[in-house]
Amino acid sequence: MDPVHAMRPGLLQLTNLPPLSLYVHLPWCIKKCPYCDFNSHEFREGADAASTEGTYIQALFADLEASLPLIWGRSIQTVFLGGGTPSLFSPDAIDQLISGIRARLRLAPDAEITMEANPGTFEKDRFKAFRQAGITRLSVGVQSFDNAHLKALGRVHDRDQALAAVSEAAQVFDTFNLDLMYALPGQTLDGLTQDMRTALDFAPPHISIYHLTIEPNTVFAKFPPNLPEDDLAYEMMDRITELTEAHGLGRYEVSAYAKPGHQCSHNLNYWQFGDYLGIGAGAHSKLSFAHRVVRQVRYREPALYMQQALKGDPVTQNNEVSRQDLPFEFMLNALRLRDGFVLADYVERTGLPMTSVQKALQEAENMGLIGRDLHRIWPTVKGFDFLSDLQALFLSAED
Ligand code: SF4
Repeated sequence: MDPVHAMRPGLLQLTNLPPLSLYVHLPWCIKKCPYCDFNSHEFREGADAASTEGTYIQALFADLEASLPLIWGRSIQTVFLGGGTPSLFSPDAIDQLISGIRARLRLAPDAEITMEANPGTFEKDRFKAFRQAGITRLSVGVQSFDNAHLKALGRVHDRDQALAAVSEAAQVFDTFNLDLMYALPGQTLDGLTQDMRTALDFAPPHISIYHLTIEPNTVFAKFPPNLPEDDLAYEMMDRITELTEAHGLGRYEVSAYAKPGHQCSHNLNYWQFGDYLGIGAGAHSKLSFAHRVVRQVRYREPALYMQQALKGDPVTQNNEVSRQDLPFEFMLNALRLRDGFVLADYVERTGLPMTSVQKALQEAENMGLIGRDLHRIWPTVKGFDFLSDLQALFLSAED
């Protein structure tokens, strides 16, 4: 998008631009997991890893340079290297990537820089090398410590590799996250409890735990596994809440639990409807201007993305978010947070007055789904349990 076009007059009035984050997508994995609908691609046997990562990093820099006019003068609060499996990239490549980002953008002095890593791409001292390259927070895709579940999920790692990776992450990083899944094929309440206890024994400052869902266009959608019944899945959620609370981890978002001071700033910025520039294959961006909010998507297939980015043309879709869609988009994110949102942020980040959601808020309050005071609105316990119903009240809420 041409920056002059983005800055022209429009119907919205954004008095301040929100904080800005950078997301970098690294799209390769050793093997595609059968439940995965992310933009991840198997790294081909025999492909030249060093030359692919070198070309990809040059493409990322070209992408970033083409995007700079849209974020001119703004500093970056957080960086997230996600995937795919970013830990497939060598520590030297990650070092080069972070230095190149720093050379092109103003990063906040205490910017959180997270990287996703998977056990099975792990070798001793690799995490230390990532920390030396500038990573401040590691997110380890464990999913489970149970060999049978790992096999059913098609993961490339086993229990021992998961234990080794988490133990190294805990030694090297002050703050790290464990990604776990529950309601897995054949999982019992005892099995889930065992998995949670193993995870919590490492005293992780942050855990993200997701219900396994069957997404369209995945292998699991074609060959669905037997999943636990809903009642059992609810019991599992209660057990997770109980165990995490007992270990001092507070549920601050539907799927995220953290010790005080260890919430993920990058994800908080998404949930608070902040801005993000997403570079890399298939990455999404949300960028605000004085009179509009814009979403962008980059080319999804890695080879095509590299070709386009190196030509300075990485974006395949550019859309302005309509006034009608802004309330729902804001609530879709903000109501995932236990503390909800500050009223002033709604006005500032959507450019709309509070009256634009008055009816929907009243309905949500009557149904016992939200609480509110003069400054803030938050989901109640019932609101958290019926989150999609709550969010749906804001579909086309703007009159
Ligand atoms: S490791 Fe993660 S990103 Fe890669 S295929 Fe599996 S679930 Fe998808």
